Amino acid sequence: MNTLPDRIARVLRQDVQSMHAYAVQPSAGFIKLDAMENPFALPAHLQQALGERLGRVAMHRYPAGRVDELKAALARHAGLPEDCALMLGNGSDELISLLAMACDVPGATLLAPLPGFVMYAMSAQLQGLRFVGVPLTADFELDEAAMLAAIEQHQPAIVYLAYPNNPTGNLWSDESIERIIQAAPGLVVMDEAYQPFASRDSMARLARWPQVLVMRTMSKFGLAGVRIGYMMGRRELIEQVDKVRPPYNISVLNAEAALFALEHADEYARQAGVIRAERQRLMAALSDMPGVRPFPSEANMILVRVPDAGAWFARLKQHGVLVKNVSALHPLLHNCLRLTVGTPEENTQMLQALKANL
Ligand code: PMP
Repeated sequence: MNTLPDRIARVLRQDVQSMHAYAVQPSAGFIKLDAMENPFALPAHLQQALGERLGRVAMHRYPAGRVDELKAALARHAGLPEDCALMLGNGSDELISLLAMACDVPGATLLAPLPGFVMYAMSAQLQGLRFVGVPLTADFELDEAAMLAAIEQHQPAIVYLAYPNNPTGNLWSDESIERIIQAAPGLVVMDEAYQPFASRDSMARLARWPQVLVMRTMSKFGLAGVRIGYMMGRRELIEQVDKVRPPYNISVLNAEAALFALEHADEYARQAGVIRAERQRLMAALSDMPGVRPFPSEANMILVRVPDAGAWFARLKQHGVLVKNVSALHPLLHNCLRLTVGTPEENTQMLQALKANL
């Protein structure tokens, strides 16, 4: 392995040098059920129409008008209230980083339940905020008393609530969420990456609470490769956070592809419907497997506890199925695998591969 020459190591942050990069498993040749992607490609006629649209995009110009049109189309799609605004990120990953940057006042804290999405802690570390993680209960509900005590103690600038949560897949009690929002001294972000598969959302909270932001992404909708995330909140707040966004962060090709997808939102809604039905089929089949405990899900993933996650993960791989072994991420996830809901055929193969462990 090459080591960095001293004079270069000296100028790079120590904490960056000792951190792990965001890990992406090699997936070539596998049935890929590890990253909550929509498993359906566009039908061929739409793919062709999209290609023609992209062929006409003015790539020699910086992004401008079409990005504004995308913001307007997303606002209509989400039902954004009048006094609210929306900003775009290169995936919601970028928005998470930008928000931490905007709130980086000395001593600022970012608080989130654990286990949760890893980017919250990572954004805090990189921007110099303190991260406080509050464990969920053993069945992955919010521990409301612990959350309220931690909020009281740490006075966080930002609280993240992923609704549904990753990797647990569940929605939390709305009563607890309301009390947490009321107690939070700073911003509360409802991260709704999995909203296309959930039975409830937080749009009504935008009207009730000036400190609430709702973050969404087109990734789970069906555009993970396109990288479009959006964050909604009161206009005055969004205007401030939007100042830290790098200029032209949304490529013209991404904006055009996202506009095209929104024009065909009914096709994506149909795909989400199939995924929700498949989730139900998987839940029933997993519940019938001895030793396997699936947890309730409102997302396009199911967290399952198995007798030996390492061995089961390896056996699934031998059968050509790639899932995510999340056991090491948090003690509460002991022996847990996270299964993304795929196409009906992929799900059947995953169930067969799981049965090979029995
Ligand atoms: N929020 C949550 C809860 C997620 O699970 C993910 C990705 N898996 C993201 C945000 C980031 O999504 P993206 O950057 O693709 O928009």
